Amino acid sequence: MRVISDIISIRTAIKNLLSDNKSVGLVPTMGALHEGHLSLVKESVKTNDYTVATIFVNPLQFNNPEDLDNYPVSIDDDLRLLEAYGCNLIFVPSKEVMYKVNPVTSISLGYLEETMEGKHRPGHFQGVALVVLKLFNILNPTVAYFGQKDLQQYRIIEKMVQDISLDIQLRMIPTVREDSGLAMSSRNRRLTDRSRKTAAEIYRALALTSDAIKHRDSIEVSLGKALDHISNHPDIQIEYLELVKLEDLMPVKSLSESDQLALCFAGYVDNIRLIDNLIIDLKE
Ligand code: AMP
Repeated sequence: MRVISDIISIRTAIKNLLSDNKSVGLVPTMGALHEGHLSLVKESVKTNDYTVATIFVNPLQFNNPEDLDNYPVSIDDDLRLLEAYGCNLIFVPSKEVMYKVNPVTSISLGYLEETMEGKHRPGHFQGVALVVLKLFNILNPTVAYFGQKDLQQYRIIEKMVQDISLDIQLRMIPTVREDSGLAMSSRNRRLTDRSRKTAAEIYRALALTSDAIKHRDSIEVSLGKALDHISNHPDIQIEYLELVKLEDLMPVKSLSESDQLALCFAGYVDNIRLIDNLIIDLKE
């Protein structure tokens, strides 16, 4: 496994890999790796000739400077895990390498950056779109892997790839959870044992609503189940809970509108912002 931190060297390394028509899978991350990230790596290693992972805590996507300062870093453990899971190349650029001068390019993302995460984290998806496009451009992968955990991020990248006809396939990998149901996240490292238990109630709340929707309870009654459950746990501060169409993340007013829905949540436990979502397939 080679660890590279400058753009010219990683470009050359990938060009050499691609020259014999091999496929390259890309797994972009911000490090502090857990089994969620590693499930993306596993899928890429299984499917492609080579796997490239990136570790870069992208300052542009942090709308809250404190969140950036507190973001966990564990580079030595990360590299050990990536090697054990069969990654071939790791790109670990510094902020100076990625943004030698302050970037001014922005990508207009329309409705997808105005709803849910976009509404509550102004500028976040501008930062995500720019860094992902930049990584795509530097690394030229055949396939790129992202987690369902960040469903809205996936939809934005998918739209961007489609809109500008990038020749890159995308794969969305299901959310990996702790035994408690808590969606794995680098930010979970900052939870105390007690707040980790509380945070697992988010999944229980989402599951209650998902079950109710599958039983064709009304949307209002179904959302009420999650809201009631969360209100029994005052340490959870809810930011939003929305039922949307899986395809385009537009709000759903009636269950007859679509068979494929997503129930999306964001909130805080102990001042740590957590997101989660469940995909609800009404045909199942
Ligand atoms: P991050 O390091 O948080 O930027 O995440 C890097 C990639 O891993 C993103 O595509 C995330 O959606 C994905 N990811 C994060 N947590 C999970 C999880 N629990 N299960 C599956 N994928 C995840």
